[in-house]
Amino acid sequence: MPVARILFPLPLPEPFDYLIPDGVEVELGSYVRAPLGPNERTGVVWEIVPDQPDRKLKPLLDVFPTPPMGEAMRRFITFCARYNVAGPGKVLAMVLRSRGGLSPSPMQTAYALTGHRTNRMTPAREKVLDAAREIGPASATELARAAGVSAGVVKALVETGSLSAQRQPTDQPFATPDPHRPGADLTLEQAEAGQALREAVKTGGYQPFLLDGITGSGKTEVYFEAIAQMLVQDPDAQILVLLPEIALTQAVLERFEKRFGAAPAPWHSGLSQVQRRRTWREVAHGRARIVTGARSALFLPFAKLKLIIVDEEHDSSYKQEEGVTYHARDMAVMRAKQENAAIVLASATPALETTVNAEAKRYTRLKLSARPGTAKLPEVSLVDMRSNAPEKGNWLSPVIAKALQSTLAAGEQSLLFLNRRGYAPLVICKACGERLKSPGTESWLTEHRYTGRLVCHLTGWSMAKPDKCPMCGAKDSLMGVGPGVERVAEEVRVLLPEAKVEVFSSDTAKGGEAVRDLVERMAAGEIDVMVGTQIVAKGHNFPNLTLVGVIDADSGLQGGDLRAGERTYQLLSQVAGRAGRAERAGRALVQTYQPENPAMIALAAGDRDGFLQIERDVRAELELPPFGRMAALILSAPDAGMAKQIGLAAGEVAPHGEGITVYGPAPAPIAMLRGRHRLRFLITAPRDVDLSTYMSTWMNALKLPNAARVRVDIDPYSFL
Ligand code: ADP
Repeated sequence: MPVARILFPLPLPEPFDYLIPDGVEVELGSYVRAPLGPNERTGVVWEIVPDQPDRKLKPLLDVFPTPPMGEAMRRFITFCARYNVAGPGKVLAMVLRSRGGLSPSPMQTAYALTGHRTNRMTPAREKVLDAAREIGPASATELARAAGVSAGVVKALVETGSLSAQRQPTDQPFATPDPHRPGADLTLEQAEAGQALREAVKTGGYQPFLLDGITGSGKTEVYFEAIAQMLVQDPDAQILVLLPEIALTQAVLERFEKRFGAAPAPWHSGLSQVQRRRTWREVAHGRARIVTGARSALFLPFAKLKLIIVDEEHDSSYKQEEGVTYHARDMAVMRAKQENAAIVLASATPALETTVNAEAKRYTRLKLSARPGTAKLPEVSLVDMRSNAPEKGNWLSPVIAKALQSTLAAGEQSLLFLNRRGYAPLVICKACGERLKSPGTESWLTEHRYTGRLVCHLTGWSMAKPDKCPMCGAKDSLMGVGPGVERVAEEVRVLLPEAKVEVFSSDTAKGGEAVRDLVERMAAGEIDVMVGTQIVAKGHNFPNLTLVGVIDADSGLQGGDLRAGERTYQLLSQVAGRAGRAERAGRALVQTYQPENPAMIALAAGDRDGFLQIERDVRAELELPPFGRMAALILSAPDAGMAKQIGLAAGEVAPHGEGITVYGPAPAPIAMLRGRHRLRFLITAPRDVDLSTYMSTWMNALKLPNAARVRVDIDPYSFL
């Protein structure tokens, strides 16, 4: 009997061998079940080798009715594991996120219209029949929910013969997109960019593009052209559109639906298990044609992936910091290579890494330099806070206060941006000076007034705001220091008592529904001033928004992160880009104490390329990424003594590597997290050094006690 080497989605060093029993059809990539220890586990056939009669092997149990994982996907898993210094089983675990998707959909009883009308109709019954007409055959619960009545009404209609029961799969296929529906009337430069993408799709093969267009220039419309071409050309081809999690709001999905007449298959952390298994199964069988998803969608087992779009490619949410640490943009390019697919990285503020790749002609750059119609980029002005200080206890400079008043008077909308959730980012005791910290974590607690709680934004831990200081016991002595969005909103309400003011952050808009509601109300002009965190920066079009105010432009510049300037520039130009997206001109006022910082100067001048050039020169000079390479080794232990000891031990076994420098161990900036003491090493190397191999050699030499944890971060973006 031949032997199958099965990779399991577990942190095991390699695949395990099993006999393939007679009569069981197994291919490379088949999803199978096999005994492992006392359990039965799901895995993937990684290799098939000839019989080995001298070895006593267990037979595998059975094969799932899912198309085998393709060779390109298997190569991608191997590459991803090697590059990011993680076991292939851990990468496979990211693929097998929905075991339910491996089996056919369960069946359910659905109720459909029969055409028969009873003469005993009631308003509730009418509602159910209307719902059945609208959504088609559905379960009693779904129909009742859609009609806003109890399930009993549905049952009663079955008895009267107006509805009939039928068995159907619970998970329905996704509607097929129609590429022939008309898109927008493209402007000349949009049409040219769209045509270049259509040509690339026609030619086929791995072709990477940078779609570099200012905010609101119609990048979405342009990549829709590539999608339409792909759908027309190949009836089996699948398309993956990656979006930052925050941007996966209804508004974006509705644009897909409008253009292609069908909602795309979704994949993100907010899906229920049932939605997850449905998308997974439809993707694996090649039936879902367009998938829109957050970074983890890159690990879906597409049957025939031919086009990948990475929208907002510079976005930091593409970097996964936990478990297998990877950068979804970089891995998407790798996956496109393996699949021989086209890939489009879209952004108004591409990452320096991407810009350098475009300059080196590794990516084809397509430029969009104007907004369609009369819309113009907003005028950006810096407000020097040294000469425009707000009154004590306030955060709005007189310049922004005046602009808010005149915008409201003109019947237009304003957006104030501050990347701090809650009311105040720090709580101190006026009596003893204690700053309240999260237990077991080096992080201040943030005061949230709406909920009356003190919250740790790092771990999510929270408590009701106590009326006494937990340290000295003084009564009513706790005071919030500094501004969060809630506090700025409070200030605006005092300044403009007649204005409708709303806070938009992950606290006020929990989940898709709430986000949609706020976005719709803002778009409809029901809100005068929106005060928001970075959640407002992306993807939204508010036609009547003409003023953007940035409260604290400098907040991202602190901390000495190598990308601090770049990130600040990206975020602020995204936020400023929300203004003036329709007929009325927009402006952005940016409060800063560092008006001479290159990021601020470039922002005011609208000189992105000048800014990138300065960044580029500095990084090239210092051999920082992308001109040099970096990795991090992060160690943690439950007590300080052990942390120190493993840090020293790890330093001792660091291999020697040509050109490689190892810094550390040093306490991490977040020196304690959830009760664990943390240390970091930073490793730098010239650009052509294979740091993955170096780090993996180091990891293999490490001998750590069980309570210690270690993580490798290749190309780190966070240094905390
Ligand atoms: P980007 O992704 O570059 O920020 P979008 O694709 O979201 O830009 O386009 C911004 C807005 O302009 C959207 O509302 C879009 O529908 C509209 N738009 C883009 N191109 C055109 C066009 N050629 N004609 C009319 N409206 C357009």
